[in-house]
Amino acid sequence: MSNLDLKPSPTRCGGEAVSGPVKELLTGRQVRLGESTEVRRLLPNLGRRMVGAWCFVDHYGPDDIAGEPGMQVPPHPHMGLQTVSWLHDGEILHRDSLGSLQTVRPYELGLMTSGRAISHSEESPREHARLLHGAQLWVALPDGHRNTAPAFEHHAGLPTVSAPGLHATVIMGTLDGATSPGTAHTPLVGADLALTAGADLRLPLESDFEYAVLAMSGSVDVDGVRVEPGSMLYLGCGRRELPLLARTDSAVLLLGGEPFDEKIVMWWNFIGRSSEEIVQARSAWMEGARFGDVHGYDGARLAAPEMPAMPLKPRGRAR
Ligand code: MN
Repeated sequence: MSNLDLKPSPTRCGGEAVSGPVKELLTGRQVRLGESTEVRRLLPNLGRRMVGAWCFVDHYGPDDIAGEPGMQVPPHPHMGLQTVSWLHDGEILHRDSLGSLQTVRPYELGLMTSGRAISHSEESPREHARLLHGAQLWVALPDGHRNTAPAFEHHAGLPTVSAPGLHATVIMGTLDGATSPGTAHTPLVGADLALTAGADLRLPLESDFEYAVLAMSGSVDVDGVRVEPGSMLYLGCGRRELPLLARTDSAVLLLGGEPFDEKIVMWWNFIGRSSEEIVQARSAWMEGARFGDVHGYDGARLAAPEMPAMPLKPRGRAR
């Protein structure tokens, strides 16, 4: 095993002393998304709510959607976060209340910054590829940026990093000196690592970031732990490099960032700092206020679920 494990010296990690590297295998929970898509939810998870500012991770597919509607997520609101759409197969048609209409394709970044308020829909176009495979990720906005103006960015041709057996695409933040054009508001990284069978390498990391690796396809030993599609390995902080060994041609997402030290309230599609804020956002959506309108989606917008009986409590990144 890695000798990093033998030296779990306390590390300053986002201003907090933590015990350093860990290996925590998280399994996905099956969740139905809209009418027709089933996803595996890795974050929030029973034991862990965030990895850096990454606060929501769904992995879906590969699904054969030939002759089927595929993904159909009606208009719904967001507050206090960014959504990152990432595909390996298929395409997603994004519409939002700013008037954006964009098809996002494999290895392109669809980045929506909700700021204070936005609404959007996501659907498989009528004419679509047979396979749909991807990840839907959220990034929590820090207090200083969470009321920023809403925005949608689409970036094709993202920067890449190559090494023997590795071809990495930088989705958000910086990896090994290559920086994504996607707007980020906290120090973080999201990268897609394509590994060829037999690849055996050490990926450079930031020791003050915490990290997790989500398996998209294939089979990879991440610091000695086998990670397969549908699961994610949380790695903690204090690592300068990460041993990766690909058993087959594989792809994983590396997610990391400075630990997010603000307590947040995350409910439905909203992130706030108090229960009252969430209640107000929900009411605004139900009254048709604040979040604007999505045009062109063939169907009704989503209704918010009922609020729980007890006020929501702000919570930190681990449970
Ligand atoms: Mn959404």
